Amino acid sequence: MPGFELFGEAEKKQVHEVLETGVLMRYGFDGMRNGQWKAKELEQKLARRMKVQHVQLLSSGTSALTVALASAGVGAGDEVIMPTFTFVASFESILALGAVPILVDIDDTLTLDSGSVEKAITKKTKVIMPVHMCGSMADLKALKNICDTYDLLLLEDACQAIGGTFEGKPLGSYGDLGCFSFDYVKTVTCGEGGALLTNNEQYYKNADHYSDHGHDHIGSDRGAEGHPFLGYNYRISELNAAVGCAQIDRLDEFLSIQKRNYQTLRKALQSVDGLSFRKVPIGGEESYAFLSFFLPTETEARKAHQALGKAGVDGCFYWYDNNWHYYRKWEHLTERKSLGKLPNEVLEQLPDYAAADFSKSDHWMGRNISCLIKLGWSEEEVEARASKMAQTLNAIA
Ligand SMILES: *Cc1c(COP(=O)(O)O)cnc(C)c1O
Repeated sequence: MPGFELFGEAEKKQVHEVLETGVLMRYGFDGMRNGQWKAKELEQKLARRMKVQHVQLLSSGTSALTVALASAGVGAGDEVIMPTFTFVASFESILALGAVPILVDIDDTLTLDSGSVEKAITKKTKVIMPVHMCGSMADLKALKNICDTYDLLLLEDACQAIGGTFEGKPLGSYGDLGCFSFDYVKTVTCGEGGALLTNNEQYYKNADHYSDHGHDHIGSDRGAEGHPFLGYNYRISELNAAVGCAQIDRLDEFLSIQKRNYQTLRKALQSVDGLSFRKVPIGGEESYAFLSFFLPTETEARKAHQALGKAGVDGCFYWYDNNWHYYRKWEHLTERKSLGKLPNEVLEQLPDYAAADFSKSDHWMGRNISCLIKLGWSEEEVEARASKMAQTLNAIA
């Protein structure tokens, strides 16, 4: 997955073009920039590649999620449905707006289970936020149907699945809003960065203003611009955007490497007794950022994970015990450990997650192992890894 593995001359050249002008900010300073507008350029490249009308570049994936929610009018007390398996950024972005994260079970897609989503809807629900974890997607068709029925917004967190598609549409472009992260370990990196995708012009305008203190970006005198509503600073710098300009041009190259490496590993594991692969919803094609599979039991999954580590197969994750990606270790959320007082709406409406039953999620996560697909492996390295993995897992089964 990580685009940093192939950081090279194209990235350096882009950064140099910014350094030559010295204009490190994305807005203003028109006379000094010598025609360089890296953030704008990356927005245009993304819009073209992802087939959407509008893209707003931001300082991170977390800020992209926050700005996406804010731009759609989500605020204090609104409920946002999110999965138990994700990254902490999901509930951070929701809480940042005083909205309430409603955790919902995942299934064998390792993403939101649509049946459980429907049961979690209340009068206060505003958004369903599927997270396309580890390179594959939620059943977007089922979730879109639910959104249409209950008049909810669909916000895709595609931070870990850039380049995947659903019904031929790039992930992130299917819902009302979609988000990418370009942090250092994502498939496309800016060092730090993120993007919001939408075909809704109003959401885009809101995002454009909100992410820059509410500036309306009318006219050529920044100090004289209006501020139609309250905003914040979620801007990306030109230096970060420049790296992204080079990386996005290489996305298809990255995806073909990921796919080739993924297929080699998958083929080797096909014959392992009792092993099954993560389900990809009908109509979906993965980005191949990870290879995820299930062992028959939790005990075997733990054993397999340990054995893979011992055998020197790095980059395989047992998310069930992970501090950052699964609800079981989110005691800072469960115990409401915030530095200052949380908004009343959150205090009153946040479910008691210590007492919640997510046994459906536990069933799948307890048996799952996900292996990162790297871009920098040589073909020999992938072949060696494939046979080592098969050998190790066969010895467990
Ligand atoms: C990386 C990631 C984010 C947050 O992105 P940052 O750029 O690191 O803030 C959000 N959601 C998921 C699923 C991620 O993997």
